[in-house]
Amino acid sequence: MSTTEPFRYGVAQERDWNAMSDEDFRALVRDDFDTHYPQALRFPPRRLRWHENKDWHLRMAAKGWIAPAWPVEYGGMGLSPSKLLIFMEEQERVGIARFQDHGVLMVGPVLMRYGTEEQKRKYLPGILSCEDIWCQGYSEPNSGSDLASLRTRAVRDGDDFVIDGQKIWTTLAHDANHMFALVRTDPDAKPQQGISFLLLDFASPGVRVRPIRDLSGHEEFCEVFLDGVRTHHTNLVGALNQGWTVAKSLLGFERIFLGSPKLPEYGLQVLETVARARGVFDDPVFNDRFVSLKIDVAHLGDIYGHYAAIVGRGEPLGPDVSLLKIWASETSQRIADLIIDTAGPFGGMNAAARIGETAINALAPFYKARVQTIYGGSSEIQRNILARQVLDLPG
Ligand SMILES: Cc1cc2nc3c(=O)[nH]c(=O)nc-3n(C[C@H](O)[C@H](O)[C@H](O)COP(=O)(O)OP(=O)(O)OC[C@H]3O[C@@H](n4cnc5c(N)ncnc54)[C@H](O)[C@@H]3O)c2cc1C
Repeated sequence: MSTTEPFRYGVAQERDWNAMSDEDFRALVRDDFDTHYPQALRFPPRRLRWHENKDWHLRMAAKGWIAPAWPVEYGGMGLSPSKLLIFMEEQERVGIARFQDHGVLMVGPVLMRYGTEEQKRKYLPGILSCEDIWCQGYSEPNSGSDLASLRTRAVRDGDDFVIDGQKIWTTLAHDANHMFALVRTDPDAKPQQGISFLLLDFASPGVRVRPIRDLSGHEEFCEVFLDGVRTHHTNLVGALNQGWTVAKSLLGFERIFLGSPKLPEYGLQVLETVARARGVFDDPVFNDRFVSLKIDVAHLGDIYGHYAAIVGRGEPLGPDVSLLKIWASETSQRIADLIIDTAGPFGGMNAAARIGETAINALAPFYKARVQTIYGGSSEIQRNILARQVLDLPG
């Protein structure tokens, strides 16, 4: 009888984290983040580029902490929902910058669910080690909310698919070496039925990435031009023309992440700092607005915990998860608006200004929050989903 060693994904975990008490686990994680995460990178006013924060994430990868939610057999920490929340809360508390995490948060979970054994072995290790940085090629000019109208085509040619088209708003594509893309593989089928989910290497001939400068003056997303780009047919995830089903599951993962209380909690801290520096924290009118926002954020934390537990149990998220994204993004915007009001003359400066004893960029939370009601499905689209699929209102 032959015995085959199971394939090892990532580094071995030091211990069974879920066997620890929540208090001990929190203390361990807190100590690690507090001690090792660089002060200069805490709560950055914009999305950091890979060269700016890679040292930290490579350290996390080497420790086996890069994928806290992934199961242990796939190289993750295998955290239970409550431990995962603690891990995220401690990241938030320290202000750890998000990296180009489309691999860990999106394509990794999709491969675990829909990928072949070969795809998992080929791609999951690179995500865990951070050697492979992934970007998400969904949106196209004129195909954002109406994603099913996308026109980038992939045609089978021998062993390869050949891709022609354009993607847009691709976050940090200039830092990525791989893309997961939705492409049209059957132009004659109904829009949602002729789409496939393909993986492609950015080193392939025909890939051109052009950064786009946003309202805040930063280049966080890009246009990606795909001209005759070849990818091997084994890079098809799920069945041919069934990419919509794969993509929909991924949007579920995305929505839970976009509903994290991280940004609004940090926004509240900034708001309190600005209000104290400007001497209005005890003003009853300000305080009324502050407490009301604080309750909104606490409420968000509860809703988030509810959905995180569903994900943690491995159950699918229902359409009602749209509520989470609306609540998180719009709460962030309300907080950001009040920061600008409270900062007075500093509220319009897109740079760190000394307000009292502290240097604060009062406009940064506004820019960060503004885009939240657009990406990952706009608020209007989320409301349409709630109206049609949850409340059963006429469409
Ligand atoms: C910061 C940022 C990062 C992003 N990163 C990525 C990425 O990495 N990869 C990627 O693929 N995409 C990315 N996107 C794109 C994002 O997914 C799209 O912007 C989003 O889906 C909206 O599409 P659109 O921009 O084409 O707007 P449109 O779909 O043209 O919508 C314009 C307006 O019309 C409203 N609207 C549209 N249809 C309806 C309707 N049926 N009912 C009511 N209102 C409607 C929308 O709510 C919006 O207000 C990113 C976007 C941003 C802002």
